[in-house]
Amino acid sequence: MLQNRQKPKPRAQTGLPIIRCRCGVEILLLPDLKAMDNAVETHVRSHGRKEKDPFKAAAEAEHVRDDLIKKIFQEINRLE
Ligand SMILES: [Zn+2]
Repeated sequence: MLQNRQKPKPRAQTGLPIIRCRCGVEILLLPDLKAMDNAVETHVRSHGRKEKDPFKAAAEAEHVRDDLIKKIFQEINRLE
């Protein structure tokens, strides 16, 4: 009988390019810049929501965005 309850492989093992946020969330690297931008912004907003202080939330969002963008460029360089 086939095992049908196999855990899905983490993306990192599928060979698809991903970037990993410092919170551990993996974001798939997309060839479409607009889609990539949306994915980053959606995730950045989820970080901002965790912070109640609007100034801290803005600073946190900024840090996460910078971090993710840096990782996107590192990953693109690694692929080329
Ligand atoms: Zn994150």
